[in-house]
Amino acid sequence: MKKNVETVLSELRHDPRFISCVTAWHHFPSTPGEYAEIPSQLHPSLKKSLEKKGILSLYTHQKEAYDRVSNGENVCVVTPTASGKTMCYNLPVLDDILKDPNTRALYIFPTKALAQDQQAEIEDICRNGEFSVKSFTFDGDTPTQKRRLAKQVGQIIITNPDMCHQAILPHHTTWARLFKSLKYVVIDEMHNYRGVFGSHVANVLRRLMRICEFYGSSPQFILASATIANPRELAEILTGKAVAVIDQSGAPVSDKDFIFCNPPVVDPDKSTRQSSIDVAYRIASRFIKNDIQTLVFARSRMSCELLVQYLRDSYYDEFERNKIQGYRGGYLPNERRAIEKGIREGSIIGVAATNALELGIDIGRLDVVVMSGYPGTIASTWQQAGRAGRRQGKSAAFLVAGASPLDQFMVMNPEYFFAQTPEYALINPDNPYILSQHVKCAAYELPFNDTPESLLGFGGVHIEYILDHLVEEKILYKSGSRWNWSSTSFPAASISLRSASNDNFVIIDTTKGAEVIGEVDWASAPMLIHEGAIYMHQGRQYHVNKLDYPSRKAYVKEVNVDYYTDANLAVAVRVISTDRVREDLLLLPKLGDLSVTGVSTIYKKIKLYTNENVGSGEISIPDMNMHTQGMWFSIPESICKGIDLRLMGGLLSGLANVILNIAPLFLMSDKNDLGVAVEVRSTYDGTPTIYLYDSYPGGVGLAEKAFEVLPYILKACFELVSACPCSDGCPGCVGPKEEIGSGVKSLCLKVLSGILEGVEM
Ligand SMILES: [Zn+2]
Repeated sequence: MKKNVETVLSELRHDPRFISCVTAWHHFPSTPGEYAEIPSQLHPSLKKSLEKKGILSLYTHQKEAYDRVSNGENVCVVTPTASGKTMCYNLPVLDDILKDPNTRALYIFPTKALAQDQQAEIEDICRNGEFSVKSFTFDGDTPTQKRRLAKQVGQIIITNPDMCHQAILPHHTTWARLFKSLKYVVIDEMHNYRGVFGSHVANVLRRLMRICEFYGSSPQFILASATIANPRELAEILTGKAVAVIDQSGAPVSDKDFIFCNPPVVDPDKSTRQSSIDVAYRIASRFIKNDIQTLVFARSRMSCELLVQYLRDSYYDEFERNKIQGYRGGYLPNERRAIEKGIREGSIIGVAATNALELGIDIGRLDVVVMSGYPGTIASTWQQAGRAGRRQGKSAAFLVAGASPLDQFMVMNPEYFFAQTPEYALINPDNPYILSQHVKCAAYELPFNDTPESLLGFGGVHIEYILDHLVEEKILYKSGSRWNWSSTSFPAASISLRSASNDNFVIIDTTKGAEVIGEVDWASAPMLIHEGAIYMHQGRQYHVNKLDYPSRKAYVKEVNVDYYTDANLAVAVRVISTDRVREDLLLLPKLGDLSVTGVSTIYKKIKLYTNENVGSGEISIPDMNMHTQGMWFSIPESICKGIDLRLMGGLLSGLANVILNIAPLFLMSDKNDLGVAVEVRSTYDGTPTIYLYDSYPGGVGLAEKAFEVLPYILKACFELVSACPCSDGCPGCVGPKEEIGSGVKSLCLKVLSGILEGVEM
């Protein structure tokens, strides 16, 4: 007799071993939807299409989006996964095209797969309404013939930021029809446009607006995003326009339990825990063996394969083990389509997937989602959990924490997750390195004039100095009041939207021949691609066999190993300028420009999931120096009086460790996006100092936000360290005592509580 979700959940609730690992069991009751009438002015063909799909009313947020867009406003829709977000842009855009066939729209998605999914959805709406709209996906695979057609007759062009940057904007004359009548720019999955990538995309949009102005159009923006702390801010910086946020979802919510588990401690001294994969597959098996459709999310391709193996081994019917499937990048497209279909139709019961399944891909909804390891951001966690939940009946999502400090923080402090999200998506389009690359592209596209309108027409920032510099470089020449292009080069070709400067290292995969698979910023090279490093790319692991430093090339080979590498970077920091000081805090934190000189000397091999140190190696790379944004503070005399120098070194490193691990919770970043440095006696003013900086030249706004939310970061650090079960430091909090010294953990707590005393939040 098969059990249902409710019954299995109730068994788990009464299983003392399981329940002792649970740190939160949150119940979301089902709530009915809030509906609005289909707008009376909507084109009859669209009404017909909706009716054919059985849609007789809209969710309130869809109606609000339609009304505001019709009213000429820019909007950003921030509602949960599966709340019918795409309708928020498809409805007003298709309605307008039906009423005026000259209307043009540009849809921008972060990936090719999502763009293709979106085109299928538009075609579906057209088919149901028995009308036709000329929509085209435009990416690297689009054949020449279709490209020509897209330019001539395309009413909706669906593409990605890289294609905009390299193929559409520089060749705008061949896209004249699109730009003359461009009325809508749709940007979905907006929260992906953060950090270096987002800072580039904001500049791509500045170039787009400049070209639109040239052709006499002024498009409206319709954006959609997962939940972040600052959707309006991000939307407005990206587009340079005022944007209205729509965040009250009218979609019904099904009955769902969300459960946080922390695997049990197996070695109390080091606070080592059972692996999250182990716990995740045991939970998933309980559902799968009752034929309850379950999706397990893994953090890497390797753990994904491992989970498939475990789940198959535990499946009761050995003849039907293909009911359990894996899904990750690297599978062939037809293989993927078959698995997606199997999930939709229910012939597949258990799936282990990487985040390849996190975004839009249409697989319908399942009963249960188990996440093995914290997906890295709160937004991703909600997106993955959103895969569970059918219209009827109960569903469940489980988060099984891994060993990393952020995983441990999340599982021990679930209120950060279930209450309002603290994650800020940050960009800095005015980063001089990124800005100057796009001014160059923009100058190629249309010449700049020596007039205030032309010079401030690039997001309102002063760019004259960049243009003058380009003249010196003989890329532009100035004739009269105009800067003209004089180089034979095509600038967009050498600029990647994924890195800050174009002084990059190219990663060459030698697994099968020699294929370029990516680039790494010059500044990150010592940390990420030294010889012996495990380089991660789209969830795959590559071993760096050879680093050719002078020619900026790294030769790698794909591997499957159970460790990652972490380089020890010895950093020297010099303060170049102090721009702001916070007098409201005892710490007097400062924000400014830093010169960071780094040299990596050794790297550690660290076992996945348990964070054990399993080896090390030497690195020989020249010193690197960069200018970036940073924030820093000193431990006040009143708090650190009497601490001897040896302990002080450990204390600062321990604190810096925790800050580096906790900051991504607020800054929605990766650990590699930030750097820390400590000085027992700073060269700046002789005090014990901790620096936190953007690890990209020029910065992308991370240190600046850290400066603003510092008390919250420190409070979270205190919560992490005080909840950690280790006795005297471990990799999950301040660091192992072998590295930072004995007694540092308790000292860190004392200092943190001293710093936080009396701080109002
Ligand atoms: Zn600890």
